[in-house]
Amino acid sequence: MFTQFNLQAPLLKAIEKLGFNKPTPVQEQAIPAALDKQDIMVCAQTGSGKSAAFLLPMLQHLLTQTAPNSKTRALVLVPTRELARQLLKQCEALAKFSNIQVAAITGGQEFKFQAALFRKNPEIIIATPGRLLEHMGKNEGLMEDVEVLVLDEADRMLDMGFSEDVLNIAGQCSHPKRQTMLFSATLKQRGMKHIIDTVLNDPKNILVDDFKGEHDSIEQEVMLADDDKHKQRLLTWLLANKTYRQAIIFVNTKVKADSLYHFLGYHDINAAVLQGDMSQDERNHVMVRMQQKGIDVLVATDVAARGLDVKQIDLVVNFDMPRSGDDYVHRIGRTGRAGEQGVAVSLVDHTEWNLKCAIERYLRIEMTQKKAKGLEGQYKGPKKMKSNGKPVGKKPAKKKDNKKPANKKAGKKPTMGQKASNGKPASKPRLGDGSAPFKPKRGE
Ligand code: AMP
Repeated sequence: MFTQFNLQAPLLKAIEKLGFNKPTPVQEQAIPAALDKQDIMVCAQTGSGKSAAFLLPMLQHLLTQTAPNSKTRALVLVPTRELARQLLKQCEALAKFSNIQVAAITGGQEFKFQAALFRKNPEIIIATPGRLLEHMGKNEGLMEDVEVLVLDEADRMLDMGFSEDVLNIAGQCSHPKRQTMLFSATLKQRGMKHIIDTVLNDPKNILVDDFKGEHDSIEQEVMLADDDKHKQRLLTWLLANKTYRQAIIFVNTKVKADSLYHFLGYHDINAAVLQGDMSQDERNHVMVRMQQKGIDVLVATDVAARGLDVKQIDLVVNFDMPRSGDDYVHRIGRTGRAGEQGVAVSLVDHTEWNLKCAIERYLRIEMTQKKAKGLEGQYKGPKKMKSNGKPVGKKPAKKKDNKKPANKKAGKKPTMGQKASNGKPASKPRLGDGSAPFKPKRGE
């Protein structure tokens, strides 16, 4: 029950209006700590209810501690414009019965219009780092009154190269009693420790549950495919045979997003596309149509689909395997939101098998292998597998080298973790985000 948190009446009224009956696990843990004014770092997935977990304590603080002569008092930094829009909506809904004003400051909007927003002095700003810094550059001390700072989807902000910007902004939020909350799908990412050490003050670590438990509401399946043509046939089969309200199909490149969108259109499927080359207006239009159920199937790249929160999405298809375990989690998190059930199907060809195994190991999950009757391909997975799921390959032919090592020890192959004599690691370890080491680099 939300009443356990002793929240102000306007907040309880908004919660009731939104139909939130009881706090989600992340809210249960994060809200009391945040109300206690502690710094917190929370490992929580998208779809877990994490936004309200920081918005409610933030609003409670603003309602109970008045500061009439302050500039912006609460700042939420987010990686993408879409997430900023989603959060703005949620924050406005939660603040609906109070006088608290909120504004979003992101790229893709007129600078002058945003400068006018600042002049209205909203208590809460939700912003992407780049554009906010532009405003801060023109307006000294703009964020000096920030009492509550939130870094939302911090792992994504690091991924997108915002680390320096985030540190810069946090450094200028110089209020002596600032509370800082960091939310992230993973806290293990490279660069995260530096952000935590620099920006947070003795934070309480809140780990809601591991990935495995988090996605109990999502059935995770895999279908083997020969190539992209075969994947297209499997996709049309899935869309014809699975029961779903709305589906999202993920691909790794903008080019493929466009071509798959045309392919689905050709098959009379009511589809739309969301990819990074589209203008902000075009993206917003697609998001709204998706929310209003004007689209059945959305083809999207990872970055473009960030922040998409549509309850009716109950089928996610990975047409291309995501490049890392964290991306996989973000993708499948588009379904199974707020207690709904969902299905995630990954189409895997021979080049993606190792990546699939790396993701399974990283997330400690096992995807259930499914087949489409009559559409089975040639590829059946590796014939022989090692215990880690990777195929047993032929041993590389030994190089003919007549020179014997000077001593047995010097010639011994270094084991994992040891350094070779040239100072390099003995073998390439798997990356910390579930990526397979061989993964090719492709554009969004
Ligand atoms: P989030 O993880 O913050 O993106 O939230 C995912 C979805 O869950 C959003 O649509 C929220 O409106 C919804 N939500 C958040 N908290 C609750 C709750 N306590 N009960 C039901 N739905 C919720």
